[in-house]
Amino acid sequence: MQRSTTTRDIRSLSVDDLQELTESLGQPAFRAKQLREWLFNKNVCSFDEMTNLPKVFREQLAERYRFNVPEELTKQVSKDGSRKYLLQFSDGVSIETVGMPNKNRLAVCISTQAGCAMGCAFCATGMSGLTRSLTAREMVDQVLHVAADFNERVTSVVFMGQGEPLANFDETVKALRMLNDPDGLGIGARHLTVSTCGIIPGIKRFAELDEQFTLAISLHSAIQQTRNQLMPGVKKFTLLRLHEALQSYTEKTGRRPSYEYAMIDGVNDTNPEMEALIDFCQGTLCHVNLIQLNDISDSPLKPSPIEKVEVLQRRLMMHGVETTIRNSRGTDIDAACGQLKQRFSVPRGGR
Ligand code: SAH
Ligand code: SF4
Repeated sequence: MQRSTTTRDIRSLSVDDLQELTESLGQPAFRAKQLREWLFNKNVCSFDEMTNLPKVFREQLAERYRFNVPEELTKQVSKDGSRKYLLQFSDGVSIETVGMPNKNRLAVCISTQAGCAMGCAFCATGMSGLTRSLTAREMVDQVLHVAADFNERVTSVVFMGQGEPLANFDETVKALRMLNDPDGLGIGARHLTVSTCGIIPGIKRFAELDEQFTLAISLHSAIQQTRNQLMPGVKKFTLLRLHEALQSYTEKTGRRPSYEYAMIDGVNDTNPEMEALIDFCQGTLCHVNLIQLNDISDSPLKPSPIEKVEVLQRRLMMHGVETTIRNSRGTDIDAACGQLKQRFSVPRGGR
């Protein structure tokens, strides 16, 4: 089959464009619908797979369009079976994605932006600033890449790779819906988790969605001053406002958000910090995920000793707050993302 010399991705066409294209190639209107289904429900990545389209039509399409699927630059495989990919889009921008198999499940951690503008002090992605936001298609392509590499069905996706999903709200929601589509990958809404540093207007919009997508909040401190230092990008969304927003989120959705808390030695693991966290959690429906900070080289911030993490877990549990300690191994989906480079560098301890 003759291949296209253009760089235009067929999947960047709107429904109207596809209709027009189909007509201009002399095909009946129902072919546009079939084409749409292959592209946006079945998520195929080649014209050859569109078996119900006439061969001549497929050839015409292949002459004019292509699939700009991301290119795999590197892949690291950890001992526990997780795979970390560096994927590059057609404009040269690259991001990280992780696939985490666990028994008969496969979780994928995807990036929503190349880089991030939020500048969190503990996060290597935040340190280099934002390059650009990703499109919904680029998010879904990461999932498809992992599914193809493992040759398995993806059972859950966490939006916890590089970038702030709620700063790229519309594309994130589009991606969630594409992944959730029963005619497509069909991943249950509850198995699709978005993690945010706490952008309040985004949380409010997220609460309005009809689907039961899962929300994770990167909290990291319940003391305003500490949080401002750790997460300067969300200073204006104060803890008080965050608390209110989360309360209305639970009232509206009946869902329990999880709070991510990376423990940093001498910073957010002190007694007043623990008390503030307990206070913040009480009265809201939540689940706390504790993790030891992932060490970023050249950073003055260091992980808390595991004993401190255990103390905090016990104290939270005593106050009725459901708390899990996540480890940095690839088998643990929540722990696996965020600073992918740090968490998945295979040479460190052979994870
Ligand atoms: N921007 C979103 C999602 C991507 S970050 C957010 O901030 O929630 C995914 C998770 O990894 C967040 O909880 C983030 O706070 C955490 N993270 C980033 N760097 C980390 C590090 N060095 N150690 C532990 N967790 C980290
Ligand atoms: Fe961005 Fe999340 Fe990293 Fe903060 S933790 S800089 S919001 S990716």
